[in-house]
Amino acid sequence: MLLTPHTLVGASIGASTNNVSLIIILAFLSHFILDAIPHFDWGTWHNYDSNFKLEKKDYILLVTDVSTAGILLFWVWTKWDYNIYIVLGAFSAVLVDLIDNVPFWKRWMRQTSFGRFIHKIHTFVHYKIKPKYWYWGVITQVLIIGGCLCFLID
Ligand SMILES: [Zn+2]
Repeated sequence: MLLTPHTLVGASIGASTNNVSLIIILAFLSHFILDAIPHFDWGTWHNYDSNFKLEKKDYILLVTDVSTAGILLFWVWTKWDYNIYIVLGAFSAVLVDLIDNVPFWKRWMRQTSFGRFIHKIHTFVHYKIKPKYWYWGVITQVLIIGGCLCFLID
């Protein structure tokens, strides 16, 4: 799933409690739950397991997704009087992708037992949508983003 829905679900978890360990655990686990929902991301046109070469469309998607996630998180954060738990939740929710999917270190990471373990669960739960149904994978994420924003900006 894209980073924006992960970020906002994590932020929503952070906004729901002051319990730091609960935020970290729930937001971390939320990543796997969201990835199990049909969604569009660059895995729709690449195989996660192969060391694919990033193309122009990947960079466009990545830059759009990261800036959208960053802008929305910052906006929500200001609305919540700079509540640090929101950032903690957002960070914990994207941690799996930071460990497993960042091209600069993913190959190295997957050679460690921890990285291999995370990668195994990550690919196991990951729902791969058929490219011709990509729009369903957009709709699910729009709903998640919209739901979180309704909750966070109420
Ligand atoms: Zn993921």
